[in-house]
Amino acid sequence: MRPELLFPLFAPVTSLPGIGPRLATAIAKLAGEHVADLLWHLPTGLIDRRFAPKIIEAIPGAIATMTLHIDAHQPPRIPRLPYRVMCSDETGTLELVFFHARPDYLEKVLPMGTEKVVSGKIEEFQGRLQMTHPDHMVSLEDAETLQSVEATYRLTAGLTSKPLLRAIQGALDRAPDLPEWQDDAWMTKNGWSGWRDSLLAAHGPQGEADLSPDTATRQRLAYDELLADQLALSIVRASQRDRPGRAFKGDGHLRNKAIAGLPFKLTPSQIAASAEIAGDMAEPVRMLRILQGDVGSGKTVVAYLAMLQAVEAGTQAALMAPTEVLARQHYATIEPLAREIGLEIALLTGRDKGNARKKLLEGLESGDIALAVGTHALFQQDVAFRDLGLAVVDEQHRFGVHQRLLLAAKGAAADMLVMTATPIPRTLMLCAYGDLDSSRLTEKPAGRQPVETRAMPLSRIEDVTNRLKSAIGGGARVFWVCPLVDDSEALDLAAATERHTALDRQFPGRVGLVHGQMKGSAKDKAMEDFARGDTDILVATTVIEVGVDVPEATIMVIEHAERFGLAQLHQLRGRVGRGERPSSCLLLYGAPLTQNAKARIEILRETDDGFRIAEEDLRLRGAGELLGTRQSGLPAFRLADIARHQDLMLAARDDARLILERDPQLETGRGKALRVLLYLFEKDAVVQTLRSG
Ligand code: ADP
Ligand code: MG
Repeated sequence: MRPELLFPLFAPVTSLPGIGPRLATAIAKLAGEHVADLLWHLPTGLIDRRFAPKIIEAIPGAIATMTLHIDAHQPPRIPRLPYRVMCSDETGTLELVFFHARPDYLEKVLPMGTEKVVSGKIEEFQGRLQMTHPDHMVSLEDAETLQSVEATYRLTAGLTSKPLLRAIQGALDRAPDLPEWQDDAWMTKNGWSGWRDSLLAAHGPQGEADLSPDTATRQRLAYDELLADQLALSIVRASQRDRPGRAFKGDGHLRNKAIAGLPFKLTPSQIAASAEIAGDMAEPVRMLRILQGDVGSGKTVVAYLAMLQAVEAGTQAALMAPTEVLARQHYATIEPLAREIGLEIALLTGRDKGNARKKLLEGLESGDIALAVGTHALFQQDVAFRDLGLAVVDEQHRFGVHQRLLLAAKGAAADMLVMTATPIPRTLMLCAYGDLDSSRLTEKPAGRQPVETRAMPLSRIEDVTNRLKSAIGGGARVFWVCPLVDDSEALDLAAATERHTALDRQFPGRVGLVHGQMKGSAKDKAMEDFARGDTDILVATTVIEVGVDVPEATIMVIEHAERFGLAQLHQLRGRVGRGERPSSCLLLYGAPLTQNAKARIEILRETDDGFRIAEEDLRLRGAGELLGTRQSGLPAFRLADIARHQDLMLAARDDARLILERDPQLETGRGKALRVLLYLFEKDAVVQTLRSG
């Protein structure tokens, strides 16, 4: 149970003064729905309001806080023109300018004949000084609160800075003093303050330097987050290691038959990975291995062979995918292979109901069905296996530790294989997966054609659609990915819908659309239509599944490619070049490109090696341009910066290890404080695996 101390932080943001449901919705989009989420929303800039000139000293372009005498109000003669308020001090005059003004409001805030303090940006217009829509207008008594440094935050549609500032202030007021979970000596060495003080300092920057991820304040907060993460991973790992494993040796009869029946030869890295997995499974410890490889590198077959080993040893095996579409795709790959060697395989998704589902469940419980593929429906309450020996999780970075725990709980001593299509730089492996053993598929299966990658400005979109016409005439099929507009699915969706309409005008009835807000069955239908060739172009938002396999698709168009991260562009490109025919990837960009965007596109044209691209991605992010973490494939940290805080990450790993060695159940004084830390970062499921958790 979450400690009472933290209750105020996990209340909904509507519990804060002045935050109603409408603002709460916008805040949820930006930060999250709990008060704590506002604490983690750190400033990205600041406005220095300390410059307090007389009018004669005012500098156009500067932010200033000025004491002004209100001389006269001048409502506009025609509504299109602004409302002006004439002001002065003993050195000159300045006008305050308001568009779409409410006169009664302005007369109340700026009564004629009084002195007011206003703060905002000074402008010069036709030789006169003015300030348009001052950020603040207060009385002389409140001047002091104004003349300071104000933090600024990332905003979103429907949320302006004032209510957000108020909400964050409200959240900070709720932040309790928490017991210190960091080691004393380590704190002193780094010059860190306590949690609450650090939080207040992070939200109250005094200069640009305070916004850097390298300040003691931000490092402390980042380290808290990293430590919670590493600790959670280590606890999960320890609990899995503690339970005795079983040796799933198998005699190879199914695997040999399966390999002989494959329509292709395994690649060297598939062979190597299979051998590593087979070795792990044969040992009487619980396997926890990650299988990394680009989309199309052939992970499913490797997983399938491991599943057969579990069956040879007399147990069952399950493969879980993050989405319905992917589950079906794995099923489509494995089912014919399994049938050929006389094994029955079940597909279990959220959509199965009634008798069919009942029969499947009975088969799994009796053990008549040895292999299962499915979505998270696989670990629902009513699903029982006779004896689950191996759980394969196709992660595609959408499951967390929590789900992995649940699945592991289904098999008393099941081995676990995690598959991911995100090549992760070695330095970051532990941040995503702790100290999991890993196997890598480094080459593409034979017969794959390299994808020709070209970049051109969006202004040439007509050339592109003209060329698509002839390509489609020749039988090509086209993925068209629409840009990431914001951290907002609604906006992504609008862009995709618009593109779909435009393309449909040129290719009537031949253009499909998939996006994240569609129902599962509608999504499947759009995908199937495209796979079957009933449509030639599939317009998609980035939510379309990374692993989707349509070998006939040979052209990938990515609109506003400059808005995507490098790793993500690589993933998208990986959806073409899967068949026999030559493929191309067209990166359409909005000019002008930033240095960083140019570099991303250049690297993509240069190489197809996912691991190299991942390293470059990290390097470029280190260079400072913020790419959508939502897309990166790594856990989205709120406070830690995976590029800048790598040394902290390593320290957190060692720290976590040491902590659990000395206090495996977190029962000492510091251990109890660390439990609070785990709850603070919502690792509730992990704490519950501890004794008296
Ligand atoms: P991943 O899961 O890594 O994205 P898949 O396992 O789905 O990739 O494999 C993609 C395609 O390549 C599948 O159609 C699969 O049958 C095929 N494939 C797998 N291994 C090989 C190989 N060694 N040679 C040729 N084709 C292969
Ligand atoms: Mg696959």
